[in-house]
Amino acid sequence: MAVIDIHVPDIGDFQEVAVIEVLVKPGDTVRAEQSLVTVESDKASMEIPSSHAGVVKELKVRLGDKVSEGAVLLTLEASDAAPAPAPASEQKPAPAQAAPAAPAIKMEASSYGGTADLDCDVLVLGGGPGGYSAAFRAADLGLKVVIVERYATLGGVCLNVGCIPSKALLHVAAVIDEARHLADAGVVFGDPSIDIAKLRAHKEKVVGKLTGGLAAMAKMRKVAVVRGHGGFIGANHVEVEETTGSGQEKTGTKKVVAFKRAVIAAGSQAVHLPFLPDDPRVVDSTGALALAEVPRRMLILGGGIIGLEMGTVYSTLGARLDVVEMLDGLMQGADRDLVRVWQKMNAPRFDNIMLKTKTTSAVAMKEGILVHFEGEQAPKEPQLYDLVLQAAGRTPNGRRIGADRAGVAVTERGFIDVDIQMRTNVPHIFAIGDVVGQPMLAHKAVHEGHVAAEVIAGELTGDKALAASAFEARVIPSVAYTDPEVAWVGLTEEQAKAQGIQVKKGLFPWSASGRAIANGRDEGFTKLLFDDSPEAHGHGRILGGGIVGTHAGDMVGEIALAIEMGADAVDIGATIHPHPTLGESLGMAAEVAHGSCTDVPPQRK
Ligand code: FAD
Repeated sequence: MAVIDIHVPDIGDFQEVAVIEVLVKPGDTVRAEQSLVTVESDKASMEIPSSHAGVVKELKVRLGDKVSEGAVLLTLEASDAAPAPAPASEQKPAPAQAAPAAPAIKMEASSYGGTADLDCDVLVLGGGPGGYSAAFRAADLGLKVVIVERYATLGGVCLNVGCIPSKALLHVAAVIDEARHLADAGVVFGDPSIDIAKLRAHKEKVVGKLTGGLAAMAKMRKVAVVRGHGGFIGANHVEVEETTGSGQEKTGTKKVVAFKRAVIAAGSQAVHLPFLPDDPRVVDSTGALALAEVPRRMLILGGGIIGLEMGTVYSTLGARLDVVEMLDGLMQGADRDLVRVWQKMNAPRFDNIMLKTKTTSAVAMKEGILVHFEGEQAPKEPQLYDLVLQAAGRTPNGRRIGADRAGVAVTERGFIDVDIQMRTNVPHIFAIGDVVGQPMLAHKAVHEGHVAAEVIAGELTGDKALAASAFEARVIPSVAYTDPEVAWVGLTEEQAKAQGIQVKKGLFPWSASGRAIANGRDEGFTKLLFDDSPEAHGHGRILGGGIVGTHAGDMVGEIALAIEMGADAVDIGATIHPHPTLGESLGMAAEVAHGSCTDVPPQRK
């Protein structure tokens, strides 16, 4: 048997991607096409499959390594020297975003010959932002719709245990911090007294208002909501096992729903690291949002947006923070100049920022959770924490819905590949949201949900315009709702550099913004990147942009619109923005790129 090297295949436009998961170890027997490692760029994660069947001899990469096309991932004792023919869709790792054509995988579906308790045009599996948006749009287009949701309320992760409760708490934290800053302006409020039960109730009220609103809107549209855990039992049937209470307790009662079309919107859940003890002091984001108490010392495991947002809340409430991250920087994906501003402002919250470091083990002790680290910035001694937040990413729910019984192909990691119409390999079954890939964001899920609903409505009613609907967003904005906020969209400077794209940068420092200075928050900046290739002849369109500062997330949508509309620096700079606003900084950044800004020192020619 030959020992062969398994290389990183063509990774499209990316120069380097980070290894975020190693799925095999020496001695493992692997099938041809079995996923070996997961790599992540700032845009997408992708699995790299084995070209051969065999036994893994030696791993050549570790978690956190950055790899490029051609790098050796591992050596394999191949049981068959000829590479297995991979299905067309898997020949190169496709970004986990909508692919241009429906995945051409044919799988046998189970056949269900029984009766159905309910039937509908469209069954939507999962009532999160993707699911309810698809369902409501389909109902608005005249279809009979059923949503299957295992929890008591609609809204999924985002409304119940994600975007909304985290922002309710972040708002409170921001007001506390703002009040503290006012001491510099001569207004002293004194230390806040925090009633944690009341704060919890406030957050729950916010969530309740939104989820209650969704239930009412489902009724208004005559969308039936069937409560229970749904799983496919055939290509046109889902069986729903009723659930009750606030969780997912099953009652044993089952219903079968027949559908003409289905939309899988089953979302994702937090990755749980196997070496962490089962202890109430070790939580995921849902546990952290429960806000049981404020710890003295908290470890955030994973330096991504979710962990840093929750850390912001806990630190403002009184916790000291440590963060551990395998990669070489926090908030991966954003340009480092944006992150540096956030990091400088937030340094006082942290005792230790441990980069290029991993957590190797943790033990539950009476006094706390004792955590051991390994890596470049690991402390010499294990550290004791009152709370450990695991924020090491989210995993899709594609493997938990009996997809194979409908013939729907699911990747090893649980993602479902779709085309730009959100269609899976089974033509009448669609998938949207977190379960189809990165970025796992609510606004992406909502837009994908609308596309799926329109395509379905077009097909069922013969409306050709609707049937041609497609997910064609050029860009999807990202926001860290930290303090200051960090928001970016489209091409980043680092990507431009890596991909050899010539850009002209317009950077407007908020130290020149009247509004930012008046607010006492002028640490931020707004930057826009325009195409500066010779073909652009000095009138290049905007390709990307980033903002760091208060309310950055509320402003980044304008950059996304400018990119979608193909605006150039004159279009943005000549658009009259109201004064004095933070939004004005977008117009001024464009003027800086154009050379016509009079609010900054004269630019050298
Ligand atoms: P989900 O919201 O995960 O919904 C899926 C639904 O399907 C769930 O309700 C689930 O119960 C149900 N379901 C799954 N399987 C079954 C089954 N077999 N039967 C019945 N029901 C089933 N995104 C942003 O854009 N902005 C943010 O600020 C933001 N903040 C976040 C903060 C936190 C702490 C977290 C965890 C996430 C955050 N996100 C944010 C991400 C966002 O929540 C998700 O991208 C979004 O919820 C995905 O929507 P979805 O419809 O794909 O799936």
